[in-house]
Amino acid sequence: MPTKYESVIGLEIHVQLKTKSKMFCSCDNSGENQPPNTTICPICLGHPGVLPVLNRQALEWGILAGLALCGDIAAKTHFDRKSYFYPDLPKGYQISQFSDPIVNGGRLEIEGRFDGKNWEKKIINLERIHLEEDAAKLIHSPTGESFVDYNRGGTPLMEIVTKPDFRSPEEAKVFLQELRLIMRYLGISDADMEKGHLRCDANISLREIGKDKLNPKTEIKNINSFRAVERALQHEIKRQTELWNEGKPITVQSTRGWDEAKQKTVEQRTKEEAHDYRYFPEPDLPPISIKNETSNTKNPDDIYLDDIKHKLRELPQAKRKRFIEEYGFDAGDAHILTEDRDLSYFTEQILSELRAWLESKGEPEGTNEEIWNVNKKRLSKLAANWLINRFLKILGDQNKNIHTGNVTPENFAEFLTFFEQKKINSTTAQALLEQMIESGRSPAQIIEEKGMAQVGDESIISDAVEKIISDNPKVVEDYKSGKIQAAKFLFGLVMRDLKGKADPQTIQRVLEEKLGSLQ
Ligand code: ZN
Ligand code: MN
Repeated sequence: MPTKYESVIGLEIHVQLKTKSKMFCSCDNSGENQPPNTTICPICLGHPGVLPVLNRQALEWGILAGLALCGDIAAKTHFDRKSYFYPDLPKGYQISQFSDPIVNGGRLEIEGRFDGKNWEKKIINLERIHLEEDAAKLIHSPTGESFVDYNRGGTPLMEIVTKPDFRSPEEAKVFLQELRLIMRYLGISDADMEKGHLRCDANISLREIGKDKLNPKTEIKNINSFRAVERALQHEIKRQTELWNEGKPITVQSTRGWDEAKQKTVEQRTKEEAHDYRYFPEPDLPPISIKNETSNTKNPDDIYLDDIKHKLRELPQAKRKRFIEEYGFDAGDAHILTEDRDLSYFTEQILSELRAWLESKGEPEGTNEEIWNVNKKRLSKLAANWLINRFLKILGDQNKNIHTGNVTPENFAEFLTFFEQKKINSTTAQALLEQMIESGRSPAQIIEEKGMAQVGDESIISDAVEKIISDNPKVVEDYKSGKIQAAKFLFGLVMRDLKGKADPQTIQRVLEEKLGSLQ
């Protein structure tokens, strides 16, 4: 039965910025890797009489993220106190932003196969982005004791709030994955959900299809992985659909927590019990003005937008588009090869080496541009296949990455040119690649030393075929009577005779020339 309801979903995402020091003090910001309560000081512990000082790097990175996500950067912004009383917040309030966030609006285009439909693009609009400090970490022991680790207290957070633009759990997951990639491309956060660098709360309500009204939302907290985002929302859609079907749709706003072990959401509190945060401007931090002008006489204390715009690097979406247009990758390969910024650089260097190689061969017809355009689709497919299906797989199996994998882009490109020129077949290529990773030496050196080069001389292949035919009259008879197994067997014998170094297509052709093709 098709459902009569659509889900209306919005996300609130906290991103931990990987600045050197904390948001308002000079404490080390790598406290998650340090013993508990060692990266702390009177400021992040909220001792009376101390003053916060804003981390300029965090402010600049917040603006950078705002630019990357097409938001309006505020000309004037300030911090507010958000009051609540809990052991993880020693001051009794969190320094956050309420009325004047650093970024208003913004958007991110996501792509995917939503609801099992075709590849689709969709714009998700943002409400705002603001900066704040993180709370300490509470650890509850199984024996009922609770501990507080203040290392995380006061570390810089960027909160991104979307509009309720998602219509399915998959859209929310794809958005978070794209956001993670952007944070990594910008170099401002590792954005690892499992490690809590990227945390997400999801708001969801249902409504009848065709209606515009927003119904009271349910907020889901404690979502710690991309899978959990999808599962928690799917669970909540099912729960709320049942309520609608029973004629009891949700009428009050509430907060629920995702229980990973039970794979369900559990009610935590309803609107009536919600906090009153009593926001007011933080008196200990001066308001900030962000200047849009270009000026030669800049005040070092001020923030200038053009300085930050210069730091904006190419973002994943633009890179994917360029990979498709410039190099001829297909959309799927372009997606995988840009999933990691370093991998995308590695890929680009390979392609530029391949292009140089193609030009150096001096093809008689056409300009360099024309020659490239004729060949690029084939070469990029070849590169993508060997990179994704073989190289990354071998590295993954050996717990290595492209930095520790010993293979330079130059060597990888050379390896591909040997394959392209049929100097090696794919079995040899696989072995060669493994040895390149193991030794770090160039493919030319390895081929030379190990005698791996393919048998190119057709007369050698022809001699081998002759020999196998005369040694195996019974199999040849089977072949002539049309047995596929016999054909495979003869092929294998010839390949073995040539130590696996011949072009399979040539062997096949020579066999057929001598015995006739299998009917
Ligand atoms: Zn501190
Ligand atoms: Mn927050």
